[in-house]
Amino acid sequence: MEDLIRRAAAIIKGYPPVIALTGAGISAESGIATFRGKDGIWSRYNPEEYATIHAFMENPARVWKMLKEFAQITMEAQPNLAHIALAELEAMGHLSVVITQNIDSLHQRAGSQQVIELHGNNRWLICLKCGKRHRVSQSLIEEIPPRCRCGGILRPDVVFFHESLPHDAYQQAVEKSQQCGCMLVIGTSVQIFPASLMPVLARQHNAIIIEINPEESRLTYEVSDIFIKGKASEILHRIVEEIKRLSP
Ligand code: NAD
Repeated sequence: MEDLIRRAAAIIKGYPPVIALTGAGISAESGIATFRGKDGIWSRYNPEEYATIHAFMENPARVWKMLKEFAQITMEAQPNLAHIALAELEAMGHLSVVITQNIDSLHQRAGSQQVIELHGNNRWLICLKCGKRHRVSQSLIEEIPPRCRCGGILRPDVVFFHESLPHDAYQQAVEKSQQCGCMLVIGTSVQIFPASLMPVLARQHNAIIIEINPEESRLTYEVSDIFIKGKASEILHRIVEEIKRLSP
């Protein structure tokens, strides 16, 4: 493990620009369960009934029951050492952007400035009738489904299953993946398309892929150059400490 940490630190220093692709696993230690985990939301809510755009349009109140539960968890969650380590890497000039599948805003709250949100975020709600954007708050989601002053139903600014990704975020993520020298793939099972494409694109353009996860993924043997098995907070913290040691 010590050797892998040292190799990862040397690659991060030596192969700029370095970017990160993150998934639900990076926020697990902030108390936000991964969807597919044993205590994950999908163990209680069937995604076909709760996470598709069709399910939302058909019965917003029902889907808002799950959304409200998730919104409350994310509002209370705090960034963990992994989010902080990525913000620190960016501040040190060793990380150019985080591409995240998460909607919880914990990267920004930890201090990351350059964040591409592939699946939107749950900070904002949008009125289906007049298009007005509302910052989410406890009071706004007291009654579900929440409504705009115009009477329209509010939806979160997230990407439901069967919806396309925000065009600009997708385009930027593709460009950054094709241009990077190293990609850190952290806490994602890499099962959701097209986010799952990013490490493949990076690899095709000769980037070095460093994967950090307590479990192997479909990338581990086919795409990753280095797989560091473990929790994001511990591994990233140790990598940052090693980089500091190399360049005090
Ligand atoms: P996933 O649930 O499919 O996979 C999570 C991955 O994280 C797994 O590979 C697991 O082994 C790993 N993991 C668990 N604990 C970890 C830890 N401490 N450190 C590092 N890795 C850890 O998640 P996904 O690939 O991101 O896909 C799920 C989808 O659901 C995404 O689109 C995401 O938008 C959404 N989601 C978001 C949040 C959030 O915003 N926090 C939470 C759950 C799901």
